[in-house]
Amino acid sequence: MVDTKGCIFNIQRFSIHDGPGIRTTVFFKGCPLQCTWCSNPESQKHLPEWMWDNSKKSKVITGEYFSVDEVIADVQKDIDYYTESGGGVTVTGGEVLAQLPFVINLLKKCKQKGIHTACETSAYSSKKKFLLLLENVDLLIMDIKHYNSDKHREKTGVKLEPIIENLKLAISSGNEMLLRIPIIPGYNDSLADSEQFALLLSSLRIQTVELLPFHQFGKSKYRFLDREYEFMNTPQLSANDLLPHKKIFTSYGIHCKIA
Ligand code: SF4
Repeated sequence: MVDTKGCIFNIQRFSIHDGPGIRTTVFFKGCPLQCTWCSNPESQKHLPEWMWDNSKKSKVITGEYFSVDEVIADVQKDIDYYTESGGGVTVTGGEVLAQLPFVINLLKKCKQKGIHTACETSAYSSKKKFLLLLENVDLLIMDIKHYNSDKHREKTGVKLEPIIENLKLAISSGNEMLLRIPIIPGYNDSLADSEQFALLLSSLRIQTVELLPFHQFGKSKYRFLDREYEFMNTPQLSANDLLPHKKIFTSYGIHCKIA
């Protein structure tokens, strides 16, 4: 029963930051990475779990099993908004590659209904799985956290190499793609780091990158999950803080946006 359903912790309507236009964003539970700055820590574990709900003043279960048809029924409610705004559905997590059969079914059904699809992913998976995702999604939004494999493993728990291999596949597929780099204080936020990222992107002939300034939107969730948060006292970064970084990417001929 459970394997025919997807474990989802949020379906957010009227999203405007997860791809073009007005979108419904479907958040899948479970991620093979354990980024210590993750702003959705409730997405990391694969199964439903207890989390404090401040509005209810009690613990609630986060993560629920849905069928594809149940999700489609929900996302279809806003089909007129997608059409008018050039929007659609975005699948994110957690990591969508961790629940791939369900995600592929959902993406296919969206396509049948003429709904544009996007996915946000770390791209950490086998090539076979990643190719299947590429074949079924309109827009790939991919984050890369570090250019150095040891540093990558240090704060995400996984190697960088499979991600780079899948990035190469995404480039050669010709899919529409947006590559993003979250800029994390003390981890990858020096100008020397941006220089190394720019060198990597240039070697892969990537022409556009988006920088995501570190934020604290997920801070209270760590407390609600009763988990330690390494960045509890780390100030957020602003778009202005990243202007010198943007300059470095631009100097390499890479079009750089700051989110
Ligand atoms: S890849 Fe994304 S969802 Fe997974 S742990 Fe890292 S920040 Fe969180």
